[in-house]
Amino acid sequence: MEIADVRGDLSQVLLTGDEIQRRIGQLAATVDQDYQGKDLLLVGVLNGAVWTLADLARELRNDCQMDWVAISSYGAGVTSSGVLRLLKDLSADVAGRHLLVVEDIIDTGLTLSYLIENLRGRGPASLEVLTAFRKPAAARCDVAVKYVGFDIPNDFVVGYGLDYAGRYRHLRGLGVLDPAVYNR
Ligand code: 5GP
Repeated sequence: MEIADVRGDLSQVLLTGDEIQRRIGQLAATVDQDYQGKDLLLVGVLNGAVWTLADLARELRNDCQMDWVAISSYGAGVTSSGVLRLLKDLSADVAGRHLLVVEDIIDTGLTLSYLIENLRGRGPASLEVLTAFRKPAAARCDVAVKYVGFDIPNDFVVGYGLDYAGRYRHLRGLGVLDPAVYNR
């Protein structure tokens, strides 16, 4: 889906699909360098990180494996409930492996700090985080994120994996959802 298809639902276009792809390519080159010769496991956070992880993995020149977790988050609203639950666990045993958690967006950082604490307990060789987008103004936890695609304003955004009530995930770019849409 292109931005033009939903332009009326967005109050602002933040990034085009091409801009996001270029940045993911740059991040992949850095990840390739950093993990040369290492057994890399990309851990995607469902559902939103599907797009980021798929694009990142296809840009990597080195081998890697992928696994997925699901964590309860916003439901159909636009603010976090703050209550988190692991809905789907990893399939793989991660002890001694190099984990790179791949997120779509870091807002308050609560989801990520919950996940990191959970994964640390399993004894990985290393644990780092990559996110496509981050909202620095919304941070409520101090989470170390090694790879950041874009820092964005503290607005509710959709596209590139991010939805509102299940919609807009497959938008190639990223835009601010017009409040008129969720106030309807
Ligand atoms: P955090 O725990 O960092 O506050 O939020 C992380 C999760 O909340 C993300 O993985 C995403 O599912 C959701 N989220 C946070 N900000 C936004 C946003 O601007 N738009 C959408 N669609 N989801 C968001």
